[in-house]
Amino acid sequence: MAVKGTDLVKLMPKKQGCKDCGFPTCFAFAMKLATGGTEVSACPHLSDEVREQVEELLAPPIRPVTIGTGEKAVLIGDEEVMYRHEKTFFHQPGIGVLVTDTEDPNEQERKIKAAEEMQFIWIGRTLKADLAVLQCASGDKGKFAGLVKRAVEINDALPLVLMADTIDILLAGLEACGKDKKPLLYAVTKENIDEAISKLGGAEVPLAVKAGSLEKIADLTEKLKEAGVQDLVIDPGSRKMWDAVRDQILIRRAALKQGFKPLGYPTITFPCQMADNPRTELAAATALLTRYGGIICLSDLSEDVLFPLVVLRMNIYTDPRVPMAVEAKIYELNQPTDNSPVLLTTNFALTYFSVANEIEATKVPAYLAIQDTEGLSVLTSWSAGKFNGETAGEFIKKSGIEDKTKNRKIVIPGLLARIRGELEDELPGWEIVIGPREAAGISSFLPELAGKA
Ligand code: SF4
Repeated sequence: MAVKGTDLVKLMPKKQGCKDCGFPTCFAFAMKLATGGTEVSACPHLSDEVREQVEELLAPPIRPVTIGTGEKAVLIGDEEVMYRHEKTFFHQPGIGVLVTDTEDPNEQERKIKAAEEMQFIWIGRTLKADLAVLQCASGDKGKFAGLVKRAVEINDALPLVLMADTIDILLAGLEACGKDKKPLLYAVTKENIDEAISKLGGAEVPLAVKAGSLEKIADLTEKLKEAGVQDLVIDPGSRKMWDAVRDQILIRRAALKQGFKPLGYPTITFPCQMADNPRTELAAATALLTRYGGIICLSDLSEDVLFPLVVLRMNIYTDPRVPMAVEAKIYELNQPTDNSPVLLTTNFALTYFSVANEIEATKVPAYLAIQDTEGLSVLTSWSAGKFNGETAGEFIKKSGIEDKTKNRKIVIPGLLARIRGELEDELPGWEIVIGPREAAGISSFLPELAGKA
């Protein structure tokens, strides 16, 4: 629940006219504060107690938590809506692979490497897993520390979750990788919370909290918060798929709709413990990815499990308000010469990759002119007045293509045959050729066009 400016006004010192915050009144300052347009520290007249109250009110309903450091760090939480269409989802869940210290060392190495190396290029993006979840299954802290060290040696940048039944083993794992790596330590429970606060509270690494119900989770997060431990990730302990999905929904709803701070944290989920075969595990992972899982822990990484999951994640966590677009420019495909034809289309990412892939498959050298239509597809951009004879003509004139090729053929999408006349008027000296209606038609169309050249 976003805080209202009127709630903040009640807490302001009301020194009318002092303007030390840069605003004419406390009211104006509070209103700006509520929308994130200024910092609470801008008012020097707030007592420590009131400042804390204001900061509490302004805190995001789901705390952002970062695991790992550097470019590969995984930031989860800080979400604002229940449903993507209400605004957008901001931080995609981290996908992790479980590696235990009792597994064969070759298997451990394969899994840790796969977390980085199993990659898929999809609509111009690299999709992959994000974390290794290292579990002490042996109960031997030396063995666990050995696994953690090995993981760091294999991939120093890979964010880690360290998972053990006792605080001492977690400490051994933390020492093995170094707290600067900011691993997530799993888990604080009702049984070990006092020990966790005294031994891990000052480590400045995120802690996972596990309990058998949401009420018990709330008790633990409250106690940790009172002890000054803020970066928490929660696991309600459910290990049946639909129970787990239900808990995720209840947690998100409590945090966003009721403003219930003790559950205002991202979550960690374990599809790997909900299934005994890859298909059911994928089903659980999919359900939890769709419904708010912050970390999704898989038992292994295989292409047929990871690929659908990362594509689904990309689709859910792209901003529905921002069309996916590629850079507007001239792309050179199949090493075009100064006599290669030009194909023109929009910068909607899906259009670009469909057309570019088809052109590349023909092996016919060609220039692909991608016009900026703000990421809209061919017909949508035409309807919006962004892709027509006038705009296309202007783009071609400014693109520099006339210096690259002497071939004066421009192929336009078959769906927009109607703009040919306008484009001919804009580009005298060019022949405007109507291309196929679908990208799939390029495979026969382009070789034929090149043969006629
Ligand atoms: S500095 Fe503080 S007290 Fe002064 S106007 Fe701004 S909000 Fe009010």
